[in-house]
Amino acid sequence: MRSASDVFGLNVFNDAVMKERLPKETYKALKRTTDYGEILNPVIAEVVANAMKDWAIEKGATHFTHWFQPMTGKTAEKHDSFITLTTDGRAIMDFSGKELIKGESDASSFPNGGLRATFEARGYTAWDCTSPAFLKEDHSGVTLCIPTAFCSYTGEALDKKTPLLRSMEALDKQAIRVLKLFGNTTSKKVITTVGAEQEYFLVDKRLYQDRKDLIFADRTLFGAMPPKGQELDDHYFGSIKERISAFMKELDNDLWKLGVSSKTKHNEVAPAQHELAPIFTTTNIATDHNQLIMETMVKVANRHQLVCLLHEKPFAGVNGSGKHNNWSILTDDGMNLLDPGDTPHENAQFLTFLSAVIAAVDKNAPLLRMSAANAGNDHRLGANEAPPAIISIFLGEQLTDIIHQIEEGHLNSSKEAEVMKIGVSTLPRFDKDVTDRNRTSPFAFTGNKFEFRMCPSSASIAGPNIVLNSIVAEELCLIADQLEAADNFNEALQTVIRKLIADHKKVIFNGDGYSDDWIEKAEKRGLPNIKSSVESFTYFNNPEYVKLFEKHKVFTEEEVISRQEIIYEEYSKVVNIEALTMIQMAKREILPACIDYATSLADSINSVKAAVSTANVSVQEKLLLQLSQLIADAQEKADQLEIKVDEAKTIKDYEKQAFAYKENVFPAMNDLREPCDVMETIVSEEYWPFPTYGDLLFRV
Ligand code: ADP
Ligand code: MG
Repeated sequence: MRSASDVFGLNVFNDAVMKERLPKETYKALKRTTDYGEILNPVIAEVVANAMKDWAIEKGATHFTHWFQPMTGKTAEKHDSFITLTTDGRAIMDFSGKELIKGESDASSFPNGGLRATFEARGYTAWDCTSPAFLKEDHSGVTLCIPTAFCSYTGEALDKKTPLLRSMEALDKQAIRVLKLFGNTTSKKVITTVGAEQEYFLVDKRLYQDRKDLIFADRTLFGAMPPKGQELDDHYFGSIKERISAFMKELDNDLWKLGVSSKTKHNEVAPAQHELAPIFTTTNIATDHNQLIMETMVKVANRHQLVCLLHEKPFAGVNGSGKHNNWSILTDDGMNLLDPGDTPHENAQFLTFLSAVIAAVDKNAPLLRMSAANAGNDHRLGANEAPPAIISIFLGEQLTDIIHQIEEGHLNSSKEAEVMKIGVSTLPRFDKDVTDRNRTSPFAFTGNKFEFRMCPSSASIAGPNIVLNSIVAEELCLIADQLEAADNFNEALQTVIRKLIADHKKVIFNGDGYSDDWIEKAEKRGLPNIKSSVESFTYFNNPEYVKLFEKHKVFTEEEVISRQEIIYEEYSKVVNIEALTMIQMAKREILPACIDYATSLADSINSVKAAVSTANVSVQEKLLLQLSQLIADAQEKADQLEIKVDEAKTIKDYEKQAFAYKENVFPAMNDLREPCDVMETIVSEEYWPFPTYGDLLFRV
C-alpha cells in the first residue's frame, strides 16, 4: 500500500485536479458557483463535463452515475456508460454538459410521501457542484459518481440533500447579516462544518448468515446475555485484533482514495463495537462522506468475511451505536464563530452566536429530538447508555458562569475577576482544554463546536443538520432584525443577549444527564421529554415549525407533510419486518428445536426407566416440565404477536398505524422474546438453532 498522502483524494475530481485540467477562466467561473452560488453557465458545464470524463476514463471508468440521497436515508445510483454510437457503427466515449448537470429517471419507487403520483413519476437529479465528483472503484470496475440533488418535476425536494443545501443557504444569509452588524466587511460566506463520529459493530459473516434477524432486521431479536458482556470495560480503547485492524486499514485506504479524511479509529465500549471519525468539513460534504463511510464499511467488511452492523442497537444488554454530529459555524475567511476569541470584539460576537444556538435549541427541542429519531434509536435514547430523550445543552462551568453574569447584568465577578461588558471588555480567558467533558449531554459545547450526540448510527446526518442550520438561521434572523433597527448597537446587543439568556437558560444543564434526578428536574423546568420516535414525529408539522421552514425556504408545507408521512411509514415498516422475522424464527427455528430437545428428554426418561425401573430421572422430568411450559408460552406469544401485526397492518392512517406498531406490536415482540431467551439458557447447545450472543460478540 502507498502512503496516506499519495493515496488521499486519488479518486476525487477535487480542486487540485480541476485547477490542473480546466482552462483558467472555466475554473474561476466554476469556483464562483461552488463557493458563492453564482448560476452556472451551460458552456462552462460542457467544458467541465469533458474534463471530468477524460479524467475518469484515464482512471479506468466506463460508466457514470448521478449519485443521490433519496428519503430512504441510503444513497441511490443508476449507471450509464459513456458510450455513444457514431453513424458508422463505432462507439466513442462521450459525456455532455447536459448529462453532467441534469439527469432524468423514472424513480417512482422511492418514498415520496404522496408528493408525486406514480403517473408523474419523473424525478430529476441536479448536479451539486459544491460536493466533488468521485470514482467508485472495486472489483466490479470504476464508476464516475456525480453528487446530485433529487427533486420532482415541480421542484419539490425528494431527497435529503436539497433541504440540507437550502438550510445552509439560510444560515449563510442570516449569519452574514449579523457579521455585518459587527462591522465585518471581509467575510463573504458562512458555512456550517460537521465532523460525524460513526460507531459500528463487526460480526463474523458465517455466524451472521445463520441469523435471520440480522439478515432481515440488522439487529438481533432474540438472544440471552452471555456470561460476559461489556462489564470489564476491556474492549473500550483496547488493543485492536489483527483481523479487525486489517479491515480498518483497508477501510482507511478506500476512504482516503475517496477524499474522506478518516482520522481516528478505536474499539468502543461493547465487545465487537468500533468507531471511526473523519476530520470535519463543510456540512454538505460531511453528509456525503458519512454516507460513503457507511457504504464503504459494509463493502470492506464483506471482503474480510465480516459483516458491519450499523444498527443503533444490534444487541440487547450491551451498548448500542450512535453518531456524534460535531457542528460549528465557519466564515469563508476562516473564522470559527463558535470559538471564543481573544479580543472583546470577538467575544461579543461569539456570545451572540452562542446565545442564538442556545435559544434555537431551547425553542425547537422537539424538532431536534425528531431529527434524531428512528425505530432503532428508540432502544437507546432514554436508556442508560445514550443521552436521554430530553434535549439540554452542556456548556461547562466556566461558560455557564459567564452566561449567568450576563443575564444578571454584572460581569465584574466572573471567575477570573475581570470586568466584562459585551463588546467593551474581554471575556475571561476561555481555555478550551479546561472545558470539562460531559459524556451524558445530548448537546454539548466542546470548546469551539457543539456535539449533537443523539443521532442514530444508521441514518443520514442530513436530517439533524437541516434542523440545526434552520433553527439557528431563524434565531440569527431575529437577532439581526432587532440590531439593525437599533440606534445604539452595543446597548441593543446587551439587551438582546441578556434576554435570550434569561428566556432560554433553562435548557442549560451541566450535570449527569443519565440520572433520574435530571428527568424530574427537567420536567420542573418545562423541558419536553419525548420518549419515543413516533411521539417526536407528531411535532414535525406544528404550525410554528412549518412557518420557520417556509420562512427560510428549507421546506414547503407540502414537503413537511410528505416527509412526516414517510417517517411514520418507515417506522411502521421497520417494526413490521422485525415482528414478522420474530414470528418466523420462533415458529420455524426456536420452537422446533425446543420440541426436539423436549422429545430427547422424554426419550431419555423412557429409556432410562426401561433400563432401570428405579432410576432417578427427576432432573429430566423437571427440565421437561419447565421446557414444555415455555414452549406453550412461546407458541401463545407468537400467535398473539401475529394478531397484533395483522391489526396494525390494516390501519390506513400513517400516524395511527405507527402508534399501533409502537404500542401494540412492539410490546408483543418483547413478550415473545422472553420465553425464547429463557429456553436458550436451558436447551442443549447442540439443539440451539442459531449462533448465540456469545458467538456473535466474541468470535470475531
Ligand atoms: P471527541 O473527544 O468527541 O472524539 P474530537 O476532538 O476527536 O472529539 O473531535 C470529534 C470530531 O469533531 C472530529 O470529527 C473532528 O473533526 C470534529 N470537529 C473538530 N472541530 C470541528 C469544527 N469546528 N466543526 C465541526 N466539527 C469539528
Ligand atoms: Mg465525540
